[in-house]
Amino acid sequence: MNKSISSAIRDDFPVLSRKVHGDRPLVYLDNAATSQKPEAVIAAVAGYYRRTNSNVHRGMHALAEEATGEYEAARRAVGDFLGAPDPAGVIFTRGTTESINLVAQSWGGSVLRPGDEILISVMEHHSNIVPWQLVAQRTGAVVKAVPLTPEGDLDLEVMDRLLSERTKLVSITQVSNALGTVNPVDTILAKAKAAGAKVLIDGAQSAPHMPVDVKAMGCDFFVCSGHKMCGPTGIGALIAPAELLEAMPPFLGGGEMIDQVTIEGSTWADLPYKFEAGTPNIAGAVGWGAAIAYLNTLGMEAVERRVHELVEDAADRLSQEPGVTLTAHPQVRGGAVSFWLDDIHPHDVAQLVDQSGVAIRAGHVCCQPLMKHLGRPAINRASYSFYNTKADTTSLLEALRTTRKLFGY
Ligand code: PMP
Repeated sequence: MNKSISSAIRDDFPVLSRKVHGDRPLVYLDNAATSQKPEAVIAAVAGYYRRTNSNVHRGMHALAEEATGEYEAARRAVGDFLGAPDPAGVIFTRGTTESINLVAQSWGGSVLRPGDEILISVMEHHSNIVPWQLVAQRTGAVVKAVPLTPEGDLDLEVMDRLLSERTKLVSITQVSNALGTVNPVDTILAKAKAAGAKVLIDGAQSAPHMPVDVKAMGCDFFVCSGHKMCGPTGIGALIAPAELLEAMPPFLGGGEMIDQVTIEGSTWADLPYKFEAGTPNIAGAVGWGAAIAYLNTLGMEAVERRVHELVEDAADRLSQEPGVTLTAHPQVRGGAVSFWLDDIHPHDVAQLVDQSGVAIRAGHVCCQPLMKHLGRPAINRASYSFYNTKADTTSLLEALRTTRKLFGY
């Protein structure tokens, strides 16, 4: 039975009841940066350190076995939640950024040849740009980017022209952290597969807010971060078919990822351990497992409906607000809505609305090529989670009005 998403859900998140700047109730609209954590996750992490703390996969004692059991249970939970075909193809990483670097260095470093192309888009987060540039420098491959329509969607016609037999990988975000655009992954996958390219889907902003089924989607690599999904920081995943991961060389070397080591050379552990060098973030995995259990009690269809309702309402009301210009009008909107307020610098806007307790983002939001496309150095962004309310948007609008008055509008 799903727990319903009413405003009572906020009681599950201790931080949401705190005040900032003295007596201002916190209005948290920076969920695209990181989500808040429910008590169940905080308790799981604390409980792990209180009862179980040990290293995994090595010890022959009770705690080591329990810690290993909890860590592996978290892997199965993440895999089931995201529709991974096989837990062996669920690699724990520090997050989306590390997952993309793993694919770029390991897969890209071994497969890409001079003149090969990696196709990204202009709306990508720096985490889905820079790792490809690094491997392109190493291999002689070339990074190209799909441009955007004036509304802030991918220009799929230009994408068709950019795809060719030279394209070895298409790496695109499912949901833009900056514009809120939900990209048509089915169409992207069909086009990329027709060109013979592999596909990486950046799920940092989709996995928190919508049902994801990696197997049904059919991508080669899916990456996401636990901390945007009510889990702890420092834990995330790369999901890929085991055969593909088997063929890839290790990313980081060290303990855990080996089978035999001699001074002359080494052999590698089986999946997923081949890609998990060193002591992993065990408490982070346990906490992420608890976050997934929590999200499952809500149901991701209900989460998606709720976030959609909140963000459509916010986009609607913001677009009618004097002085506000939305940065994009995408066909389908995810959890974020970004905007400018007159010609007031976004940093000033964020700082001033913060005085009313409203936390929003300002800056290039890790998307400098997108800022160049928009022709401004920075934006403001309000980003939602299922625990936000329409009253949060009302608070934002009031704080924006106060800001405009201060600037003499
Ligand atoms: N891609 C997208 C679309 C993101 O929104 C983010 C985080 N803002 C990342 C990648 C990077 O995630 P992380 O910092 O958790 O590695």
